[in-house]
Amino acid sequence: MCGIIGIFGSENAANLAMLGLFAEQHRGQESCGMAVNDGTTIKLRKKMGLVKDVFTPEKIKNLNGLIAIGHVRYPTRGSSSVYNSQPHIVETLSGPSYALSSNGDIVNYNVIRNWLEEKGVYFASKNDGELILKYIVYHVERENFSIQNAIIELMKNVKGAYSTILATKTEMYLFRDPYGFRPMSYGKTKDGAVVVASESCALDILYMEWKEEVKPAEIIVVNDDGVTNIEHDPNEFRETNTNKHCIFEHIYFSRPDSVIFNENVFEVREKIGRIIAENDDIDPDVVVPVPDSANFIALGYAKKMNKPYEMGLIRNHYVGRTFIKPEQTIRDESVYQKFNPLPDFFKGKCVTLVDDSIVRGTTLRKIVKLLRNAGAKEIHLRIGSPAVKNSCYYGIDTPTCEELIANNKSVDEIREYIGADSLKYLSMEQLKKAVELPQNFCYACFDGSYPVI
Ligand code: SF4
Repeated sequence: MCGIIGIFGSENAANLAMLGLFAEQHRGQESCGMAVNDGTTIKLRKKMGLVKDVFTPEKIKNLNGLIAIGHVRYPTRGSSSVYNSQPHIVETLSGPSYALSSNGDIVNYNVIRNWLEEKGVYFASKNDGELILKYIVYHVERENFSIQNAIIELMKNVKGAYSTILATKTEMYLFRDPYGFRPMSYGKTKDGAVVVASESCALDILYMEWKEEVKPAEIIVVNDDGVTNIEHDPNEFRETNTNKHCIFEHIYFSRPDSVIFNENVFEVREKIGRIIAENDDIDPDVVVPVPDSANFIALGYAKKMNKPYEMGLIRNHYVGRTFIKPEQTIRDESVYQKFNPLPDFFKGKCVTLVDDSIVRGTTLRKIVKLLRNAGAKEIHLRIGSPAVKNSCYYGIDTPTCEELIANNKSVDEIREYIGADSLKYLSMEQLKKAVELPQNFCYACFDGSYPVI
């Protein structure tokens, strides 16, 4: 999971891009970058670290230009290194320069990379974004394709998830893979700048006049003539006739104040909570979320159960998402740094603890232990998704199948490992009831049915 931002037509392009990246920091905390076009060249700044540290006011001052694209990275393909961070840029002798930010993963990466390398194309990283950029630049510079036709060629041959922004010195192109795995929205500010972002929450802070989603397989060209939408029938490029949006964007990844795949994230989460509560037969004193991604799931559950919803577990917001940390030793330590129970709150209480998902089970095990030590009498765990049994190949760094606890243990064994009194997952049928068009979603990490292989 990563976050992207693009600004076209603002003298404050770098500053707006920085604000957008800051709003999307939850999508990646490992590194961040920005490429800014000043009309003659593209300036690039990318570093390991958080947006607030990499893009200080002094650094932003040096990034002049009317077009800026940016990226926050959480590593999937390619190691944790600045070489694999984005944006990627290409300077060419014939004049145009290109910069690209993308969110997703390419499943036939090796095939496409080998093909390009045989043509003499050089790669500086192992990142999907560079592959997409080099594929387009190869077709434009060596095969005389227009940029638009190079993107269409990409949609025909490069398989996987990609919500992408490509900037040249005069234009910005926005395009999304034919399945629409990852979100992408764009719009216009009241000052007339065009803005594109992974999540609508990044647009909201920039006073948009209007905003909407980039459709799967759509190509949008932004230049001095305005915004031109080139819609394609996505079925030209894919094997199913439905979209395959990532359902986990609604369950966990996206911010609750975003509109993702044309539905409010907070409403989907509340609905999941109400659905879990529908057939629940426990009688808790209190409903407590594992903050923050389970907050709205727990709220929906508590409303339906008519039980008090309490923020009994406090999250330190200065510690990153545990799931995003790449090493297990860091992950284990940060659970205790990240969560702390309210003093005296849990003593003698029967608690429904609500979380969005169970991946390895290690974090929840420690949280349950924290609540037991804080005096909780009973802990009933309710999970806002089915059991995660398969790895993701579309932009999420889920562990290998062997590391996923649901592949090695039954529900009761997981309950025992975590130390809860009871454990219930959301079923696939229940999950599908939480969204308006369930056929338009990917559920592969639950059911192993991969839309693209
Ligand atoms: Fe999302 Fe899971 Fe599909 Fe990956 S496999 S795109 S995480 S639903």
